[in-house]
Amino acid sequence: MKRTIILKNFRIVDENVNMLGSVIVEDGIIREVFPGSADFSDSGLSNKELDGFLDSARIIIDGGEGADKWGLSLLPALTDIHAHFRDPGFPEKENLESAALAAVAGGYGTVVCMANTDPVIDAPEAAAALKLRSDALGLIDLYPAMALTTGMAGKELSGITRLQPADSGQKAAWPGQRPRRPPLILSEDGKDISDDALLLRAFQEAKRLGLPVSCHCDEGGETKATARVIELGKKAGCHVHIAHVSTKEAVALIRGAKAEAGNAESGFTLTCEASPHHLVLTDETARMLGEETWGKVNPPLRPEADRQALLGALLDGTIDAIATDHAPHSNSDKKKGAPGFSGLETAFSICLTELVSEEGLSLSRLSSLLSASPSRILGLGDRGRIAPGYRADFFITDTDSFWQVDPANMKTRGKNSPFTGRDVRGRILMTIHRGRIVYEAPALK
Ligand SMILES: [Zn+2]
Repeated sequence: MKRTIILKNFRIVDENVNMLGSVIVEDGIIREVFPGSADFSDSGLSNKELDGFLDSARIIIDGGEGADKWGLSLLPALTDIHAHFRDPGFPEKENLESAALAAVAGGYGTVVCMANTDPVIDAPEAAAALKLRSDALGLIDLYPAMALTTGMAGKELSGITRLQPADSGQKAAWPGQRPRRPPLILSEDGKDISDDALLLRAFQEAKRLGLPVSCHCDEGGETKATARVIELGKKAGCHVHIAHVSTKEAVALIRGAKAEAGNAESGFTLTCEASPHHLVLTDETARMLGEETWGKVNPPLRPEADRQALLGALLDGTIDAIATDHAPHSNSDKKKGAPGFSGLETAFSICLTELVSEEGLSLSRLSSLLSASPSRILGLGDRGRIAPGYRADFFITDTDSFWQVDPANMKTRGKNSPFTGRDVRGRILMTIHRGRIVYEAPALK
């Protein structure tokens, strides 16, 4: 018998839709999406079909009181293309389980974790093993990024040379689909390969594999590093994804190069992400929190002019995705100057509060930036939308309710949030992964 779930009376929002309606899920896949009232009178289904669904539904989740009133909002689960899970190697900061619990509490269904663990994820077997361990938890879809060089030492190419091209060996379920086995993205994380010839060879491998390379552009200044990977990416004809863009100069470079890339015959593709903290905070916050401690992050929080450039790039489509760069640390490491912020549990609410309510971004566009668009960069065309045939990965939120960011209530082991104490909108009430409830918010006291 099919496992059916009905979610009725929701404000359904994805990158194309913003309507009151209901969703029927069968065996983890969205079967029907109806606009209109909860009695399904607009559904177009026959009474017999409808009775069939209602009889077999194991769970009915009701988002509101009726068609005349907006209920709770139902959005596609978020996809984070850049996070650090610290597993293996740094359990005092985070492990797979604490990170996955943080992810679902933040509305995430799919996460890319970076390879700067101990040992480094530099072999296909290590990436596959990490995904298997995560799959066993059953909370999220984890896709470990794989390092470009062995041990991230920048000396020789890693196991990427042993990977098979994305399209071979597995049957695609739809045109252009990449297989679901990791890695879906390659990255040397914060370490740039300083040898141009070696980086070009890594890019050529990425081109052969049909995988994007996430470039962090941290070394030697963001502008210079960004220009360098764009040049080498053009030469290789691969997909370069720029991580956590933070300066107005880098934004301008990327905007120009994207216009060129549009008609590049080489296959050169350019995408980029920005992080909530760079979109919302400035160097003033870093000084307040302590530039060498709680306010420290790579790249650093920038002046307001840079933040304004990022907002412009968000609105004009230059920025393709919002990624957390979730970087949990123990309190003692943070006091010693470890860079990075915990981000999975605050990303949606911070963006909703500061970008949708304050800066005029639409909720549909925010959904795209946090879900459909990063999923596309990863080649995951089966998620990020609420439409028939897509995966039943959702989260439910009340966009009108406020909550206060308090690391003591967070699932992550890294309590290093720069947003501590802020009042934000849009508490995550429930997260559903492949049609199963994987997170429910505790009742408010
Ligand atoms: Zn990072």
